[in-house]
Amino acid sequence: MTRKAIVIGAGLAGLQTAWFLRQEGWDVTVVERRDGAGLETSFANGGLITPSHAAPWNSPGIFRTLLSSIGDETSALYLKPTAIPEYARWGLTFLRNSTPARYHRTIERNGRLARYSATVLNSLLDDLTLKVDAERRGTIMFYRNASAFERAQGVNAHVAKSGVDVETCSPERLVALEPALADIGDRMSGGFYYRGDQHGDAHLYCRALSEKLAEAGVTFRFGEDVTGFETEGARVTGVVTDKGQIDGEAVILAAGFWSAKIGRRLGLRLPIKPVKGYSVTYDASNGAQRPSLPVVDDELHIGITPLGDRIRFVGTAEFSGYSPEINPARIENLRKAAQATYPSLVASIGEDSPLTTWCGHRPMTPDCLPLVGQCGPENLYLNTGHGYLGWTTASGTSRALCDAIVGRTPAIDLADYGPQRF
Ligand SMILES: Cc1cc2nc3c(=O)[nH]c(=O)nc-3n(C[C@H](O)[C@H](O)[C@H](O)COP(=O)(O)OP(=O)(O)OC[C@H]3O[C@@H](n4cnc5c(N)ncnc54)[C@H](O)[C@@H]3O)c2cc1C
Repeated sequence: MTRKAIVIGAGLAGLQTAWFLRQEGWDVTVVERRDGAGLETSFANGGLITPSHAAPWNSPGIFRTLLSSIGDETSALYLKPTAIPEYARWGLTFLRNSTPARYHRTIERNGRLARYSATVLNSLLDDLTLKVDAERRGTIMFYRNASAFERAQGVNAHVAKSGVDVETCSPERLVALEPALADIGDRMSGGFYYRGDQHGDAHLYCRALSEKLAEAGVTFRFGEDVTGFETEGARVTGVVTDKGQIDGEAVILAAGFWSAKIGRRLGLRLPIKPVKGYSVTYDASNGAQRPSLPVVDDELHIGITPLGDRIRFVGTAEFSGYSPEINPARIENLRKAAQATYPSLVASIGEDSPLTTWCGHRPMTPDCLPLVGQCGPENLYLNTGHGYLGWTTASGTSRALCDAIVGRTPAIDLADYGPQRF
C-alpha cells in the first residue's frame, strides 16, 4: 500500500526530502505558505556550495566579537540591543559551543556532511538536467591583513582534516586563478582555493526541482499555512492548515527558522533562531572584468558570486529577530565591499538598477549544525536548522533522512545531526 508523507515547507530542505520520498514510491504532499517554491531563505542566498565553509560561526573568541558589535549597524556581524532577550538562552548554548574542542568537532561534522551533500546534489543536477547557473570550479577566500591570513591558515588546517581540498595561495596564485582580482593583487596577503566547492542559483534549483516533483506526482498545496497537528497517542496523524486538514503517516518539518514556531504546537523546543542576511544581484552581462569564480573576503564578510550573466553580492549577519524589511544601508555596505574587491566591475554595472535586493533569515542552531531526524512524536521528522549552509548541506540531509524513514542505513550517521543533542 502507498504510504503518505506530508512535507512542511518548499525550500531546499523540504523539496529535496519530497523528491527522495517520492522516489521510494511514497504519496507526498508539500504544504507551503508562500505561492511558490523557494521564496524564503532559499531565494537569493550566496549561491555557494562550500564544504570549505565547515568552520562554524561560533569560533573561539566570538564572544568578544559579538560584544563589540552590539548596536553597531555598520558591522557585518550585528547584535541588535533590543533583540538580546530573544537570543539569550540560544546565545548561551552558542557560546558554550565555541570551545576549541567543540569548534573542531563541528568543522569535522559540517565538512563530512557537506562533502556527502555535494555528491547527492550533483547526481540530482546531472540526472534531472537541471539548469540552475551551476558551475563546479571551486571558490576562493582571500585576506588583506597578514595576521588574519595567518590565523585562517590554522582554521584551514582543520577544514582540510575534515576531507576538504584546501590549497593555500599566494596573491599571485589567487590572481592566476581569478584574473578579475588583479585590481587588488598587491593588497592581498594571501588566501585559499577550494577546488571541491561549487556554486549555483538555489532559487532556480527550487523552481526546477518543484516542476520535476509535480511531474512525478507530488501534490503541492501552495498558499496554505500550517497551523497545527492532529495526534493520536505517540503519533501525528495529520497537519492542520488554514484551509483544512491533511492526513499522513509521516510528517517532515522543513520550515526553515519557522520550524521552531510550528514545533511548539507539539510541545517541541527547537533551538533555531533567525540570523538575517542580505544580497543584491545585478545584470553583469556588460560588466567589465567579470569574475568566473566566487570569492569570499573573509575580513569584510562578503561573498561575490557569478551566476550566469548575473553577479551577486551577499553578506551580513544580524542577530535582530525576524524582520522582512530591507535596510538600504546594508545593501549599500555590500556594494561598497564589492567595490573594494572589483572596482572596475562595480563601476561598470548599473548602480541603481539591481535585479533583486533581498534579505533572508538563516535558520541557525546554536552549534551551527542542522537538526535532522525523528523528534517528539514517533513519525515526526526534522530537516531544518541549516543555518548559513543550507544550499551546501540540505541535499545530503534530505537523502539521509529519507533513508532513515524507509528503514535503510543512511550513508552518514544522522546521530551527529539529531535533535537529541540538545
Ligand atoms: C543572506 C544569506 C546567504 C546565504 N548564503 C548561502 C550560501 O551561499 N550557501 C549555503 O549553503 N547557504 C546559504 N545560506 C543559507 C541557506 O539559504 C539556508 O540554509 C536554506 O535556504 C534553508 O532552506 P530551508 O528549506 O531550510 O528553509 P526555507 O528556504 O526558508 O524554506 C522553508 C519554507 O517553509 C515555509 N513555511 C514556513 N512556515 C510555514 C507554515 N506555517 N506553513 C507552511 N509553510 C511554511 C516558508 O514559507 C519557506 O518557504 C544563506 C542564507 C542567507 C540568509
